[in-house]
Amino acid sequence: MSEKIPYKIYLSENELPTSWYNVRADMKNKPAPLLNPATHEPMKFEDLRPVFCDELIKQELDDTTAYIPIPDEIREFYKMYRPAPLVRAYCLEKKLGTPAKIYYKFEGNNTSGSHKLNSAIAQAYYAKKQGLRGVTTETGAGQWGTALSMACSYFDLDCQVYMVKVSYEQKPFRREVIRTYGAKITPSPSDTTEVGRKILAEFPGTGGSLGCAISEAVEAATKQEGYRYVLGSVLNQVLLHQTVIGLETMTAMDKYGIKPDVIIGCAGGGSNLGGLISPFMGRKLRGEADYEFIAVEPSSCPSLTRGKFVYDFCDTGHVCPLAKMYTLGSEFMPSPNHAGGLRYHGMSSILSQLYDDKLMEARSVEQTSVFAAAQEFARVEGILPAPESSHAIRVAIDEALKCKETGEEKTILFGLTGTGYFDMYAYKAFNDGTMSDYIPTDGEIAASLAKTPKI
Ligand SMILES: *Cc1c(COP(=O)(O)O)cnc(C)c1O
Repeated sequence: MSEKIPYKIYLSENELPTSWYNVRADMKNKPAPLLNPATHEPMKFEDLRPVFCDELIKQELDDTTAYIPIPDEIREFYKMYRPAPLVRAYCLEKKLGTPAKIYYKFEGNNTSGSHKLNSAIAQAYYAKKQGLRGVTTETGAGQWGTALSMACSYFDLDCQVYMVKVSYEQKPFRREVIRTYGAKITPSPSDTTEVGRKILAEFPGTGGSLGCAISEAVEAATKQEGYRYVLGSVLNQVLLHQTVIGLETMTAMDKYGIKPDVIIGCAGGGSNLGGLISPFMGRKLRGEADYEFIAVEPSSCPSLTRGKFVYDFCDTGHVCPLAKMYTLGSEFMPSPNHAGGLRYHGMSSILSQLYDDKLMEARSVEQTSVFAAAQEFARVEGILPAPESSHAIRVAIDEALKCKETGEEKTILFGLTGTGYFDMYAYKAFNDGTMSDYIPTDGEIAASLAKTPKI
C-alpha cells in the first residue's frame, strides 16, 4: 500500500460493530465452568439468577454462539464516544528510532477515562430491560465505579458503589465524578452490610480491600428487592462486551491492509486484553492468520507468569463462584507500594485457557520501568496514560527497540486503555524518585496459593 497511513484512523458510525464476538465459540479447549463454592458442581443458569441479570448469565454460559448482536440502544450509546481512534504512533517511532510500525487503540476518550464504559453500558442496559431497580458493585481505583455510574444514569437505574476505603479517601475527585452521575458511594468496609460490620468489628480502622468491597456489594444486591450485582472485569460476559475494541481495530487495519505481527495489552482481570485480541485470536484459532499475543502484568501481581492454573475463589470473602484461572490465591495482596493498578489475584478463565494452550504469551514488568515508559510516551504522543495502560506501552517500546537492533520492520499493536489524571500521586512518586519496585518472593506466593480450594 503506497498511500501513507494517517496518524489517526477513524471509522464512521456505520462501521461500528453490530455484534460482539465470542471467542469461546472457536476455542477447542473451552474455559472451565464456574463452580458452586459449596457443592463444587458447575453453576447453572438458575444458580446464578439471584446475583446476576438473566441475559448476562446467558452470555456468561454461552460457549458456542460466535456472534452476539449488540442491541440498538447500546450501539446508540457507543456512538457518543466510539468508534475509538486507532493511532499510528509516528512520533514515538521517530523518537525511538525504530523501523517498527507502532499502532495503539485509544480507549480513554470518555469521562470514565477507560474502556470500562463498553461493558458498563451493556450491563446497565440488560438490568434495565429486565425491569430491575438498580445494581451494586465494588470499585478499587475508581474507573469501574465511574463507568457504571455513567451507564446507570443514562438508563435511569439506581447505582450503589462500594469503594475501597483507602481509595475513597485518596481519590476524592474520582468520588465526586461518581456522585455527579448520581450513584450512591459508600466507603468499604461500612456498617451498611452484615459482612462490613463484621469486618469493622474485627479490624477497626482498616482501609478495606477489593475482596471486602465485593462481599459487601454482593450482599447488598441479594438483600434488596430488584437489585443485582455487576462486575467490571474477569467474567466472560465482560470480555465479550470489550470485543468492540478488537472488532473496530480489525476493521480499521483491514481497511488499510495492515497486519499486526505482535498484539500487546495490559492484563488485570483480562477484559481489555481479551477484548482487543479476541477477533485476531479467532483468526488464529481458525487457521486463517497468525499473530503473537502478549499479556503484560505487574511483577508485583504476576498471576499469569508466576501463578497456578487451578480453581480459586474470585473474592477474598469467598462468596462468589469458583473459577479456574491463573491465580496467586485469593488472599494475595500486592505490596502497598504498588501504584500501577492491575492488582487482581486471578485472571479471566478465557485468557487463562488460551495462555495454558500456549496461544498467548505473558510478561511481567516492574512499576518504575512502567512509569518511565508512560513518561516517554506522554512526551511525544500527547496523552497522559493510565498506569495500567502503561504496562502495555512498556512492552510495545521494548519490542520496538528489539526491532531497532535486528532491523525488523514489525507491526506492533497495543491497547491504550485509558488516561491517568486520577493517578497523579503515583506520577508524583515517580517524578520525586521515591517509587520503588517490590517483587513477591516464591515463599509469599506459595503461602497464598496453599489456600486455594482443593478440587
Ligand atoms: C480496569 C483497567 C484496566 C485493567 O482491567 P482489565 O479487565 O484487565 O482490562 C486497564 N486499564 C485501565 C485504564 C483500567 O481502568
